[in-house]
Amino acid sequence: MKQSKTFIPTLREIPADADVKSHQLLLRAGFIRQNTSGVYSYLPLATKVLKKIEQIVREEMEAIDAVELLMPALQQAELWQETGRWEAYGPELMRLKDRHNRDFALGATHEEVITSLVRDEVKSYKKLPLTLYQIQNKFRDEKRPRFGLLRGREFVMKDAYSFHATRESLDETYNDMVKAYTNIFTRLGLNFRAVIADSGSIGGKDTHEFMVLSEIGEDTIAFSDESSFAANIEMAEVNVEYSHSNEDMKELEKVSTPDQKSIDEIVEFLKVSPESCIKSLVFNVDDELVVVLARGDHEINDIKLKNALDAQSVELADDKVIFDLLGSHVGSLGPVKLPINVKVIADHAIKSIRNGVCGANEDGFHYINVNPGRDFAIDRFEDLRFIQVGDPSPDGKGTIKFAEGIEVGHVFKLGTTYSDSMKATFLDENGRAQSFIMGCYGIGVSRLVAAVAEQFQDSYGFVWPKQIAPYDIHLISVNEKDEAQKNLTEETYKLLQSYRYDVLYDDRKERAGVKFADADLIGLPVRVTIGKKASEGILEVKFRQSGETFEWAKEELVDRLN
Ligand code: ATP
Ligand code: MG
Ligand code: MG
Ligand code: MG
Repeated sequence: MKQSKTFIPTLREIPADADVKSHQLLLRAGFIRQNTSGVYSYLPLATKVLKKIEQIVREEMEAIDAVELLMPALQQAELWQETGRWEAYGPELMRLKDRHNRDFALGATHEEVITSLVRDEVKSYKKLPLTLYQIQNKFRDEKRPRFGLLRGREFVMKDAYSFHATRESLDETYNDMVKAYTNIFTRLGLNFRAVIADSGSIGGKDTHEFMVLSEIGEDTIAFSDESSFAANIEMAEVNVEYSHSNEDMKELEKVSTPDQKSIDEIVEFLKVSPESCIKSLVFNVDDELVVVLARGDHEINDIKLKNALDAQSVELADDKVIFDLLGSHVGSLGPVKLPINVKVIADHAIKSIRNGVCGANEDGFHYINVNPGRDFAIDRFEDLRFIQVGDPSPDGKGTIKFAEGIEVGHVFKLGTTYSDSMKATFLDENGRAQSFIMGCYGIGVSRLVAAVAEQFQDSYGFVWPKQIAPYDIHLISVNEKDEAQKNLTEETYKLLQSYRYDVLYDDRKERAGVKFADADLIGLPVRVTIGKKASEGILEVKFRQSGETFEWAKEELVDRLN
Protein backbone atom coordinates (compact mmCIF):
# COMPACT_ATOMS: atom_id res chain seq x y z
CA MET A 1 0.00 0.00 0.00
CA LYS A 2 1.29 3.40 -0.92
CA GLN A 3 1.07 5.73 2.02
CA SER A 4 -0.06 8.59 -0.23
CA LYS A 5 -3.14 6.55 -1.07
CA THR A 6 -4.14 5.45 2.39
CA PHE A 7 -5.53 7.35 5.37
CA ILE A 8 -3.25 7.70 8.37
CA PRO A 9 -3.89 11.05 10.02
CA THR A 10 -1.04 11.22 12.55
CA LEU A 11 -0.91 13.90 15.22
CA ARG A 12 2.16 15.61 16.65
CA GLU A 13 0.56 16.55 19.96
CA ILE A 14 -0.69 14.23 22.67
CA PRO A 15 -4.49 14.52 22.57
CA ALA A 16 -5.71 16.21 25.72
CA ASP A 17 -8.76 14.04 26.26
CA ALA A 18 -6.93 10.72 26.24
CA ASP A 19 -5.54 9.63 29.57
CA VAL A 20 -4.00 6.24 28.97
CA LYS A 21 -1.04 5.40 26.74
CA SER A 22 -2.86 3.12 24.35
CA HIS A 23 -5.64 5.61 23.72
CA GLN A 24 -3.21 8.48 23.19
CA LEU A 25 -1.10 6.56 20.77
CA LEU A 26 -4.01 5.04 18.85
CA LEU A 27 -5.14 8.62 18.24
CA ARG A 28 -1.69 10.05 17.54
CA ALA A 29 -0.60 7.30 15.19
CA GLY A 30 -3.80 7.70 13.20
CA PHE A 31 -5.48 4.40 14.12
CA ILE A 32 -8.78 5.58 15.55
CA ARG A 33 -11.00 8.63 15.89
CA GLN A 34 -13.79 9.19 18.37
CA ASN A 35 -17.24 9.92 16.98
CA THR A 36 -18.92 10.45 20.30
CA SER A 37 -18.36 9.21 23.81
CA GLY A 38 -17.42 5.54 23.67
CA VAL A 39 -17.99 5.31 19.92
CA TYR A 40 -15.07 5.10 17.54
CA SER A 41 -14.17 4.81 13.89
CA TYR A 42 -11.45 2.32 13.18
CA LEU A 43 -9.25 3.93 10.55
CA PRO A 44 -7.39 1.72 8.07
CA LEU A 45 -4.50 0.81 10.40
CA ALA A 46 -6.74 -0.17 13.30
CA THR A 47 -8.99 -2.06 10.92
CA LYS A 48 -6.02 -4.16 9.85
CA VAL A 49 -5.03 -4.92 13.45
CA LEU A 50 -8.64 -5.73 14.33
CA LYS A 51 -8.94 -8.11 11.37
CA LYS A 52 -5.72 -9.87 12.30
CA ILE A 53 -6.89 -10.38 15.86
CA GLU A 54 -10.23 -11.63 14.53
CA GLN A 55 -8.37 -14.08 12.29
CA ILE A 56 -6.45 -15.53 15.24
CA VAL A 57 -9.71 -15.81 17.18
CA ARG A 58 -11.41 -17.54 14.23
CA GLU A 59 -8.58 -20.04 13.81
CA GLU A 60 -8.68 -21.03 17.46
CA MET A 61 -12.47 -21.25 17.48
CA GLU A 62 -12.57 -23.46 14.39
CA ALA A 63 -9.87 -25.65 15.97
CA ILE A 64 -12.33 -26.62 18.71
CA ASP A 65 -15.25 -27.06 16.29
CA ALA A 66 -16.99 -23.81 17.08
CA VAL A 67 -18.85 -22.62 14.00
CA GLU A 68 -19.26 -19.02 12.93
CA LEU A 69 -22.60 -17.39 12.32
CA LEU A 70 -23.87 -13.84 12.44
CA MET A 71 -26.89 -12.80 14.45
CA PRO A 72 -28.75 -9.51 14.37
CA ALA A 73 -27.68 -6.57 16.47
CA LEU A 74 -31.30 -5.42 16.44
CA GLN A 75 -33.28 -7.53 18.90
CA GLN A 76 -36.96 -7.46 19.75
CA ALA A 77 -37.81 -6.75 23.38
CA GLU A 78 -39.97 -9.88 23.59
CA LEU A 79 -36.88 -12.07 23.68
CA TRP A 80 -35.41 -10.14 26.56
CA GLN A 81 -38.74 -10.22 28.36
CA GLU A 82 -38.72 -14.01 28.22
CA THR A 83 -35.59 -14.14 30.39
CA GLY A 84 -36.53 -11.14 32.49
CA ARG A 85 -33.48 -9.26 31.34
CA TRP A 86 -35.49 -6.50 29.66
CA GLU A 87 -35.89 -5.24 33.24
CA ALA A 88 -32.83 -6.71 34.86
CA TYR A 89 -30.22 -5.48 32.41
CA GLY A 90 -30.91 -1.89 33.34
CA PRO A 91 -29.69 1.27 31.64
CA GLU A 92 -26.71 -0.42 30.00
CA LEU A 93 -29.06 -1.90 27.41
CA MET A 94 -29.52 0.47 24.47
CA ARG A 95 -33.24 0.58 23.76
CA LEU A 96 -35.20 1.96 20.86
CA LYS A 97 -38.62 1.80 19.27
CA ASP A 98 -39.60 1.02 15.73
CA ARG A 99 -42.18 3.00 13.74
CA HIS A 100 -44.95 0.85 15.20
CA ASN A 101 -43.85 1.81 18.68
CA ARG A 102 -42.53 -1.67 19.39
CA ASP A 103 -39.56 -2.00 21.75
CA PHE A 104 -36.15 -3.14 20.59
CA ALA A 105 -32.66 -3.33 22.00
CA LEU A 106 -29.29 -3.18 20.36
CA GLY A 107 -27.54 -6.39 21.28
CA ALA A 108 -25.44 -6.08 24.42
CA THR A 109 -25.01 -9.84 24.31
CA HIS A 110 -26.80 -12.64 22.48
CA GLU A 111 -27.96 -15.34 24.90
CA GLU A 112 -31.61 -14.61 24.12
CA VAL A 113 -31.21 -14.57 20.36
CA ILE A 114 -29.17 -17.74 20.16
CA THR A 115 -31.33 -19.63 22.64
CA SER A 116 -34.45 -18.83 20.63
CA LEU A 117 -32.69 -19.89 17.44
CA VAL A 118 -31.56 -23.22 18.85
CA ARG A 119 -34.91 -23.76 20.55
CA ASP A 120 -36.60 -23.56 17.17
CA GLU A 121 -34.11 -25.60 15.19
CA VAL A 122 -32.48 -28.23 17.39
CA LYS A 123 -34.83 -30.93 18.61
CA SER A 124 -32.69 -33.97 19.34
CA TYR A 125 -29.71 -34.89 21.52
CA LYS A 126 -28.17 -36.28 18.33
CA LYS A 127 -27.42 -32.74 17.18
CA LEU A 128 -25.49 -31.97 20.37
CA PRO A 129 -23.07 -30.67 21.41
CA LEU A 130 -23.24 -27.57 19.26
CA THR A 131 -21.01 -24.52 19.59
CA LEU A 132 -21.73 -21.38 17.60
CA TYR A 133 -19.90 -18.07 17.62
CA GLN A 134 -19.95 -14.70 15.98
CA ILE A 135 -17.76 -11.63 15.79
CA GLN A 136 -19.97 -8.63 15.92
CA ASN A 137 -20.53 -5.15 17.28
CA LYS A 138 -22.09 -5.01 20.70
CA PHE A 139 -23.82 -2.06 22.28
CA ARG A 140 -23.69 -1.20 25.95
CA ASP A 141 -24.54 2.19 27.33
CA GLU A 142 -21.65 2.12 29.78
CA LYS A 143 -21.92 4.47 32.70
CA ARG A 144 -18.40 5.60 32.13
CA PRO A 145 -17.04 4.85 28.70
CA ARG A 146 -13.33 5.43 28.85
CA PHE A 147 -9.79 4.62 27.88
CA GLY A 148 -10.69 4.62 24.20
CA LEU A 149 -11.34 1.15 22.86
CA LEU A 150 -11.01 -0.40 26.31
CA ARG A 151 -14.50 0.57 27.38
CA GLY A 152 -16.63 1.62 24.47
CA ARG A 153 -20.38 1.86 24.08
CA GLU A 154 -20.14 0.17 20.70
CA PHE A 155 -17.42 -2.43 20.54
CA VAL A 156 -16.45 -5.64 18.79
CA MET A 157 -16.95 -8.88 20.66
CA LYS A 158 -16.48 -12.50 19.82
CA ASP A 159 -19.27 -14.33 21.57
CA ALA A 160 -19.71 -18.08 21.50
CA TYR A 161 -22.52 -20.21 22.90
CA SER A 162 -22.52 -23.94 23.43
CA PHE A 163 -25.43 -26.34 23.82
CA HIS A 164 -25.19 -29.72 25.49
CA ALA A 165 -27.18 -32.74 26.53
CA THR A 166 -25.01 -33.44 29.57
CA ARG A 167 -22.91 -31.61 32.14
CA GLU A 168 -19.88 -33.65 31.12
CA SER A 169 -20.21 -32.43 27.59
CA LEU A 170 -20.39 -28.83 28.80
CA ASP A 171 -17.28 -29.40 30.94
CA GLU A 172 -15.44 -30.68 27.88
CA THR A 173 -16.33 -27.70 25.73
CA TYR A 174 -15.60 -25.32 28.58
CA ASN A 175 -12.13 -26.80 28.95
CA ASP A 176 -11.58 -26.60 25.20
CA MET A 177 -12.56 -22.94 25.33
CA VAL A 178 -10.14 -22.23 28.15
CA LYS A 179 -7.40 -23.80 26.01
CA ALA A 180 -8.47 -21.89 22.91
CA TYR A 181 -8.48 -18.63 24.87
CA THR A 182 -5.07 -19.42 26.28
CA ASN A 183 -3.81 -19.99 22.72
CA ILE A 184 -5.35 -16.75 21.48
CA PHE A 185 -3.88 -14.54 24.18
CA THR A 186 -0.54 -16.32 23.95
CA ARG A 187 -0.44 -15.80 20.18
CA LEU A 188 -1.13 -12.12 20.78
CA GLY A 189 1.93 -11.98 23.02
CA LEU A 190 -0.05 -10.76 26.01
CA ASN A 191 0.91 -11.09 29.64
CA PHE A 192 -2.30 -12.58 30.99
CA ARG A 193 -3.84 -14.77 33.67
CA ALA A 194 -6.97 -16.89 33.75
CA VAL A 195 -8.75 -16.02 36.98
CA ILE A 196 -11.69 -17.32 38.93
CA ALA A 197 -14.44 -14.81 38.42
CA ASP A 198 -17.67 -13.79 39.98
CA SER A 199 -20.63 -14.64 37.84
CA GLY A 200 -22.28 -11.26 38.32
CA SER A 201 -25.57 -10.81 36.57
CA ILE A 202 -25.28 -13.37 33.80
CA GLY A 203 -25.99 -16.36 36.01
CA GLY A 204 -24.38 -19.71 36.48
CA LYS A 205 -21.48 -20.46 38.73
CA ASP A 206 -18.48 -21.81 36.91
CA THR A 207 -16.70 -18.96 35.32
CA HIS A 208 -13.22 -17.71 34.51
CA GLU A 209 -12.02 -14.38 33.27
CA PHE A 210 -8.90 -13.77 31.25
CA MET A 211 -7.05 -10.77 32.55
CA VAL A 212 -4.21 -8.94 30.87
CA LEU A 213 -1.95 -7.66 33.61
CA SER A 214 -1.75 -3.91 33.24
CA GLU A 215 -1.58 -0.99 35.63
CA ILE A 216 -4.57 0.61 33.91
CA GLY A 217 -6.75 -2.45 34.46
CA GLU A 218 -10.07 -1.78 36.14
CA ASP A 219 -10.16 -5.12 37.89
CA THR A 220 -7.94 -6.29 40.70
CA ILE A 221 -6.80 -9.85 40.87
CA ALA A 222 -5.30 -11.81 43.69
CA PHE A 223 -2.83 -14.39 42.50
CA SER A 224 0.22 -16.38 43.38
CA ASP A 225 3.29 -16.55 41.15
CA GLU A 226 4.07 -20.06 42.30
CA SER A 227 0.73 -21.58 41.40
CA SER A 228 -2.06 -21.27 38.90
CA PHE A 229 -4.33 -19.75 41.51
CA ALA A 230 -5.80 -16.38 40.54
CA ALA A 231 -9.10 -14.77 41.44
CA ASN A 232 -10.86 -11.56 40.57
CA ILE A 233 -11.67 -9.59 43.67
CA GLU A 234 -14.31 -7.69 41.80
CA MET A 235 -17.24 -6.60 43.90
CA ALA A 236 -20.76 -6.18 42.76
CA GLU A 237 -22.04 -2.69 42.21
CA VAL A 238 -23.33 -0.67 45.09
CA ASN A 239 -25.84 2.05 44.81
CA VAL A 240 -24.44 5.12 46.34
CA GLU A 241 -26.06 8.38 47.14
CA TYR A 242 -23.95 11.44 47.33
CA SER A 243 -24.43 14.08 49.91
CA HIS A 244 -22.41 16.96 51.20
CA SER A 245 -24.78 18.33 53.72
CA ASN A 246 -22.89 18.24 56.96
CA GLU A 247 -19.80 19.90 58.28
CA ASP A 248 -17.67 16.85 58.12
CA MET A 249 -18.41 16.47 54.51
CA LYS A 250 -17.44 20.05 53.88
CA GLU A 251 -14.22 19.42 55.73
CA LEU A 252 -13.64 16.39 53.66
CA GLU A 253 -14.26 18.26 50.51
CA LYS A 254 -11.67 20.77 51.49
CA VAL A 255 -9.25 17.93 51.65
CA SER A 256 -10.63 16.69 48.42
CA THR A 257 -9.36 19.23 46.02
CA PRO A 258 -8.98 18.12 42.44
CA ASP A 259 -5.33 17.61 43.15
CA GLN A 260 -4.65 14.14 44.20
CA LYS A 261 -4.06 13.97 47.88
CA SER A 262 -1.48 11.85 49.52
CA ILE A 263 -2.31 9.08 51.87
CA ASP A 264 -0.71 11.15 54.61
CA GLU A 265 -3.23 13.91 54.18
CA ILE A 266 -6.09 11.45 54.25
CA VAL A 267 -4.67 9.84 57.34
CA GLU A 268 -4.18 13.22 58.97
CA PHE A 269 -7.77 14.11 58.29
CA LEU A 270 -9.27 10.85 59.31
CA LYS A 271 -7.05 10.57 62.38
CA VAL A 272 -6.48 6.94 61.81
CA SER A 273 -3.40 4.90 61.37
CA PRO A 274 -2.18 4.56 57.80
CA GLU A 275 -2.78 0.88 58.02
CA SER A 276 -6.39 1.07 59.05
CA CYS A 277 -6.95 3.85 56.59
CA ILE A 278 -5.63 1.69 53.87
CA LYS A 279 -7.58 -1.29 55.00
CA SER A 280 -10.80 0.45 55.44
CA LEU A 281 -11.64 3.92 54.41
CA VAL A 282 -14.94 3.48 56.07
CA PHE A 283 -15.93 5.72 58.87
CA ASN A 284 -18.78 7.51 60.48
CA VAL A 285 -19.86 11.04 59.89
CA ASP A 286 -22.74 11.98 62.12
CA ASP A 287 -23.75 8.40 62.24
CA GLU A 288 -23.93 8.22 58.52
CA LEU A 289 -21.77 5.63 56.98
CA VAL A 290 -19.11 6.99 54.75
CA VAL A 291 -17.26 4.97 52.26
CA VAL A 292 -14.50 5.76 49.90
CA LEU A 293 -14.78 3.39 47.06
CA ALA A 294 -11.91 1.82 45.34
CA ARG A 295 -11.31 1.28 41.70
CA GLY A 296 -11.83 4.59 40.09
CA ASP A 297 -15.55 4.36 40.03
CA HIS A 298 -17.71 7.16 41.29
CA GLU A 299 -15.69 9.99 39.83
CA ILE A 300 -12.73 9.07 41.94
CA ASN A 301 -9.32 9.67 40.53
CA ASP A 302 -7.25 6.69 41.33
CA ILE A 303 -4.04 7.05 43.12
CA LYS A 304 -1.79 4.22 43.75
CA LEU A 305 -1.37 3.72 47.42
CA LYS A 306 1.58 1.41 47.31
CA ASN A 307 1.20 -2.30 47.48
CA ALA A 308 0.07 -2.15 51.03
CA LEU A 309 -3.41 -1.32 49.88
CA ASP A 310 -5.14 -4.58 50.03
CA ALA A 311 -8.25 -6.08 51.47
CA GLN A 312 -10.82 -3.75 52.88
CA SER A 313 -13.85 -3.98 55.03
CA VAL A 314 -17.47 -4.75 54.62
CA GLU A 315 -20.01 -3.84 57.21
CA LEU A 316 -23.71 -4.20 57.43
CA ALA A 317 -26.02 -2.19 59.59
CA ASP A 318 -29.71 -2.38 59.11
CA ASP A 319 -30.42 -1.40 55.58
CA LYS A 320 -27.20 0.52 55.32
CA VAL A 321 -24.11 -1.15 54.22
CA ILE A 322 -20.58 -0.11 54.38
CA PHE A 323 -19.03 -1.42 51.32
CA ASP A 324 -15.64 -2.69 50.60
CA LEU A 325 -12.65 -1.03 49.25
CA LEU A 326 -11.17 -4.06 47.76
CA GLY A 327 -8.34 -3.45 45.46
CA SER A 328 -4.72 -2.71 45.43
CA HIS A 329 -5.46 0.92 45.21
CA VAL A 330 -8.05 2.95 46.95
CA GLY A 331 -9.90 5.76 45.33
CA SER A 332 -8.15 8.91 46.23
CA LEU A 333 -9.79 11.95 47.52
CA GLY A 334 -9.46 13.50 44.13
CA PRO A 335 -12.39 15.50 42.80
CA VAL A 336 -14.38 13.17 44.89
CA LYS A 337 -17.86 13.42 45.96
CA LEU A 338 -17.51 11.24 48.96
CA PRO A 339 -20.37 8.86 48.95
CA ILE A 340 -22.34 8.73 52.12
CA ASN A 341 -25.67 7.24 52.97
CA VAL A 342 -24.61 4.11 51.33
CA LYS A 343 -27.77 2.15 51.07
CA VAL A 344 -28.58 -1.05 49.40
CA ILE A 345 -26.12 -3.62 48.69
CA ALA A 346 -27.71 -5.84 46.15
CA ASP A 347 -28.50 -9.24 47.44
CA HIS A 348 -26.24 -10.82 44.89
CA ALA A 349 -23.39 -8.74 46.18
CA ILE A 350 -23.91 -10.19 49.59
CA LYS A 351 -24.03 -13.60 48.05
CA SER A 352 -20.89 -13.00 46.13
CA ILE A 353 -19.14 -11.90 49.25
CA ARG A 354 -20.44 -14.91 51.06
CA ASN A 355 -19.91 -17.67 48.55
CA GLY A 356 -17.45 -16.31 46.17
CA VAL A 357 -15.66 -14.10 48.53
CA CYS A 358 -15.42 -11.49 45.90
CA GLY A 359 -15.06 -13.79 43.06
CA ALA A 360 -13.00 -16.51 44.54
CA ASN A 361 -15.27 -19.47 44.21
CA GLU A 362 -13.11 -21.95 45.97
CA ASP A 363 -13.62 -23.72 49.21
CA GLY A 364 -11.38 -22.49 51.93
CA PHE A 365 -10.64 -19.28 50.13
CA HIS A 366 -12.12 -16.51 52.12
CA TYR A 367 -11.25 -13.27 53.66
CA ILE A 368 -9.06 -13.77 56.65
CA ASN A 369 -8.16 -11.65 59.65
CA VAL A 370 -11.48 -10.07 59.90
CA ASN A 371 -12.42 -8.13 62.95
CA PRO A 372 -16.04 -9.12 63.53
CA GLY A 373 -18.23 -6.24 64.45
CA ARG A 374 -15.83 -3.85 62.87
CA ASP A 375 -15.66 -5.40 59.48
CA PHE A 376 -19.05 -6.94 59.17
CA ALA A 377 -22.19 -7.84 60.98
CA ILE A 378 -21.53 -11.28 62.26
CA ASP A 379 -24.92 -12.79 61.65
CA ARG A 380 -24.76 -12.08 57.95
CA PHE A 381 -21.14 -12.78 57.26
CA GLU A 382 -20.08 -15.40 59.70
CA ASP A 383 -17.78 -17.09 57.23
CA LEU A 384 -16.33 -13.96 55.76
CA ARG A 385 -12.64 -13.42 55.94
CA PHE A 386 -10.18 -11.19 54.20
CA ILE A 387 -7.39 -12.13 51.94
CA GLN A 388 -4.36 -9.95 51.95
CA VAL A 389 -1.12 -9.52 50.17
CA GLY A 390 1.38 -11.96 51.61
CA ASP A 391 -1.21 -14.55 52.67
CA PRO A 392 -0.56 -18.11 51.60
CA SER A 393 -2.30 -19.02 48.37
CA PRO A 394 -5.40 -21.19 48.95
CA ASP A 395 -3.68 -24.11 47.23
CA GLY A 396 -0.70 -23.69 49.51
CA LYS A 397 1.66 -22.78 46.72
CA GLY A 398 3.29 -19.41 47.23
CA THR A 399 1.86 -16.20 48.58
CA ILE A 400 -0.81 -13.82 47.43
CA LYS A 401 -0.05 -10.75 45.38
CA PHE A 402 -2.44 -8.23 43.93
CA ALA A 403 -2.32 -6.74 40.45
CA GLU A 404 -4.56 -4.80 38.12
CA GLY A 405 -5.99 -6.55 35.12
CA ILE A 406 -7.90 -5.78 31.95
CA GLU A 407 -10.69 -8.30 31.36
CA VAL A 408 -10.22 -9.47 27.77
CA GLY A 409 -12.19 -12.69 27.89
CA HIS A 410 -14.81 -14.40 29.96
CA VAL A 411 -16.10 -17.97 29.94
CA PHE A 412 -19.24 -19.15 31.74
CA LYS A 413 -21.02 -22.37 32.42
CA LEU A 414 -24.57 -21.11 32.23
CA GLY A 415 -26.28 -24.41 32.87
CA THR A 416 -29.98 -24.21 32.12
CA THR A 417 -30.61 -20.64 33.25
CA TYR A 418 -31.56 -19.46 29.78
CA SER A 419 -33.01 -22.64 28.38
CA ASP A 420 -35.31 -22.97 31.40
CA SER A 421 -36.64 -19.45 31.21
CA MET A 422 -37.00 -19.62 27.44
CA LYS A 423 -38.32 -23.17 27.45
CA ALA A 424 -35.66 -24.37 25.08
CA THR A 425 -35.63 -28.16 25.15
CA PHE A 426 -34.45 -31.15 23.15
CA LEU A 427 -35.46 -34.81 23.29
CA ASP A 428 -32.96 -37.01 25.09
CA GLU A 429 -32.16 -40.68 24.34
CA ASN A 430 -35.31 -41.74 26.12
CA GLY A 431 -37.48 -39.32 24.21
CA ARG A 432 -37.84 -37.02 27.21
CA ALA A 433 -37.72 -33.25 26.87
CA GLN A 434 -34.70 -31.72 28.62
CA SER A 435 -33.48 -28.15 28.87
CA PHE A 436 -30.31 -27.45 26.91
CA ILE A 437 -27.26 -27.15 29.13
CA MET A 438 -25.39 -24.07 27.97
CA GLY A 439 -22.11 -22.25 28.11
CA CYS A 440 -21.16 -18.79 26.85
CA TYR A 441 -17.78 -17.41 26.02
CA GLY A 442 -16.83 -13.82 25.19
CA ILE A 443 -13.72 -12.05 23.98
CA GLY A 444 -13.40 -8.28 23.72
CA VAL A 445 -11.86 -8.09 20.28
CA SER A 446 -11.70 -4.30 20.05
CA ARG A 447 -10.64 -4.11 23.69
CA LEU A 448 -7.78 -6.41 22.72
CA VAL A 449 -6.55 -3.86 20.19
CA ALA A 450 -6.16 -1.43 23.08
CA ALA A 451 -4.75 -4.05 25.47
CA VAL A 452 -2.08 -4.99 22.94
CA ALA A 453 -1.48 -1.31 22.16
CA GLU A 454 -1.01 -0.63 25.86
CA GLN A 455 1.57 -3.35 26.23
CA PHE A 456 3.52 -2.94 22.98
CA GLN A 457 4.87 0.57 22.84
CA ASP A 458 7.90 2.63 23.77
CA SER A 459 8.59 6.34 24.01
CA TYR A 460 8.55 6.73 20.20
CA GLY A 461 5.37 4.89 19.42
CA PHE A 462 3.98 1.42 18.87
CA VAL A 463 6.10 -1.71 18.69
CA TRP A 464 3.58 -4.07 17.13
CA PRO A 465 4.21 -7.77 17.43
CA LYS A 466 4.60 -9.35 14.00
CA GLN A 467 1.46 -11.44 14.11
CA ILE A 468 -0.90 -8.46 14.38
CA ALA A 469 1.10 -5.51 13.02
CA PRO A 470 -1.00 -3.58 10.50
CA TYR A 471 1.75 -4.14 7.90
CA ASP A 472 4.88 -6.28 7.94
CA ILE A 473 7.28 -3.69 6.63
CA HIS A 474 7.49 0.08 6.39
CA LEU A 475 9.38 1.02 3.24
CA ILE A 476 10.67 4.57 3.18
CA SER A 477 12.45 6.51 0.51
CA VAL A 478 14.32 9.40 2.06
CA ASN A 479 14.00 11.55 -1.03
CA GLU A 480 11.27 10.74 -3.52
CA LYS A 481 12.79 13.21 -5.98
CA ASP A 482 16.09 11.37 -6.21
CA GLU A 483 15.98 9.12 -9.24
CA ALA A 484 18.22 6.34 -7.86
CA GLN A 485 16.34 6.25 -4.56
CA LYS A 486 12.97 6.28 -6.22
CA ASN A 487 13.91 3.42 -8.55
CA LEU A 488 15.43 1.24 -5.87
CA THR A 489 12.43 1.83 -3.63
CA GLU A 490 9.97 0.88 -6.35
CA GLU A 491 11.97 -2.27 -7.12
CA THR A 492 12.19 -3.20 -3.44
CA TYR A 493 8.46 -2.63 -3.06
CA LYS A 494 7.70 -5.03 -5.91
CA LEU A 495 10.21 -7.56 -4.65
CA LEU A 496 8.78 -7.62 -1.13
CA GLN A 497 5.25 -7.86 -2.43
CA SER A 498 6.20 -10.78 -4.63
CA TYR A 499 7.31 -12.55 -1.47
CA ARG A 500 3.91 -11.80 0.04
CA TYR A 501 5.05 -9.20 2.50
CA ASP A 502 2.40 -6.66 3.31
CA VAL A 503 4.31 -3.42 2.77
CA LEU A 504 3.44 0.15 3.65
CA TYR A 505 5.45 2.27 1.21
CA ASP A 506 5.89 5.86 2.30
CA ASP A 507 5.90 7.54 -1.10
CA ARG A 508 4.75 10.88 0.27
CA LYS A 509 6.55 14.04 -0.71
CA GLU A 510 7.41 14.76 2.91
CA ARG A 511 10.69 15.55 4.62
CA ALA A 512 12.59 12.50 5.82
CA GLY A 513 12.15 13.65 9.43
CA VAL A 514 8.38 13.58 9.09
CA LYS A 515 8.46 10.12 7.52
CA PHE A 516 10.68 8.70 10.25
CA ALA A 517 8.60 10.23 13.02
CA ASP A 518 5.43 8.77 11.53
CA ALA A 519 7.13 5.41 11.04
CA ASP A 520 8.17 5.39 14.70
CA LEU A 521 4.64 6.23 15.80
CA ILE A 522 3.03 3.57 13.63
CA GLY A 523 5.57 1.01 14.80
CA LEU A 524 5.74 -1.69 12.12
CA PRO A 525 8.16 -4.51 12.97
CA VAL A 526 10.63 -3.77 10.16
CA ARG A 527 11.62 -0.51 8.51
CA VAL A 528 13.48 -0.54 5.21
CA THR A 529 14.96 2.84 4.35
CA ILE A 530 16.39 3.80 1.01
CA GLY A 531 18.61 6.85 1.10
CA LYS A 532 21.99 8.01 -0.14
CA LYS A 533 23.40 4.53 -0.66
CA ALA A 534 20.72 3.75 -3.20
CA SER A 535 23.22 4.25 -5.99
CA GLU A 536 25.20 1.29 -4.57
CA GLY A 537 22.02 -0.76 -4.23
CA ILE A 538 22.23 -0.66 -0.40
CA LEU A 539 19.25 -0.40 1.92
CA GLU A 540 19.05 0.21 5.64
CA VAL A 541 16.98 -2.24 7.61
CA LYS A 542 15.87 -1.45 11.14
CA PHE A 543 14.04 -3.79 13.48
CA ARG A 544 11.62 -1.81 15.57
CA GLN A 545 11.69 -4.01 18.62
CA SER A 546 15.43 -4.56 19.08
CA GLY A 547 16.46 -1.30 17.45
CA GLU A 548 19.11 -3.20 15.47
CA THR A 549 20.01 -1.76 12.09
CA PHE A 550 21.72 -3.38 9.14
CA GLU A 551 22.87 -2.31 5.70
CA TRP A 552 21.96 -4.94 3.18
CA ALA A 553 22.01 -5.16 -0.58
CA LYS A 554 18.59 -5.46 -2.14
CA GLU A 555 19.48 -8.98 -3.31
CA GLU A 556 20.07 -10.28 0.23
CA LEU A 557 17.02 -8.59 1.76
CA VAL A 558 14.45 -11.35 1.41
CA ASP A 559 16.81 -14.11 2.52
CA ARG A 560 17.87 -12.19 5.58
CA LEU A 561 14.38 -11.17 6.59
CA ASN A 562 13.31 -14.79 6.71
P1 ATP B 1 -16.39 -5.31 32.11
O1 ATP B 1 -16.27 -5.99 33.44
O2 ATP B 1 -15.10 -4.77 31.61
O3 ATP B 1 -17.51 -4.31 32.06
P2 ATP B 1 -18.06 -7.39 31.25
O4 ATP B 1 -17.76 -8.39 32.30
O5 ATP B 1 -19.26 -6.54 31.39
O6 ATP B 1 -16.77 -6.44 31.06
P3 ATP B 1 -18.72 -9.51 29.41
O7 ATP B 1 -20.18 -9.40 29.46
O8 ATP B 1 -18.03 -10.59 30.15
O9 ATP B 1 -18.09 -8.08 29.81
O10 ATP B 1 -18.32 -9.49 27.86
C1 ATP B 1 -17.27 -10.27 27.27
C2 ATP B 1 -16.05 -9.43 26.94
O11 ATP B 1 -16.39 -8.27 26.18
C3 ATP B 1 -15.36 -8.89 28.15
O12 ATP B 1 -14.51 -9.87 28.71
C4 ATP B 1 -14.58 -7.71 27.57
O13 ATP B 1 -13.34 -8.16 27.04
C5 ATP B 1 -15.46 -7.24 26.45
N1 ATP B 1 -16.17 -6.00 26.82
C6 ATP B 1 -17.18 -5.87 27.70
N2 ATP B 1 -17.60 -4.60 27.78
C7 ATP B 1 -16.84 -3.89 26.91
C8 ATP B 1 -16.80 -2.53 26.52
N3 ATP B 1 -17.64 -1.64 27.05
N4 ATP B 1 -15.90 -2.14 25.59
C9 ATP B 1 -15.04 -3.05 25.05
N5 ATP B 1 -15.03 -4.35 25.37
C10 ATP B 1 -15.91 -4.78 26.30
MG1 MG C 1 -19.55 -4.59 31.89
MG1 MG D 1 -16.49 -7.99 34.06
MG1 MG E 1 -17.27 -10.38 32.09
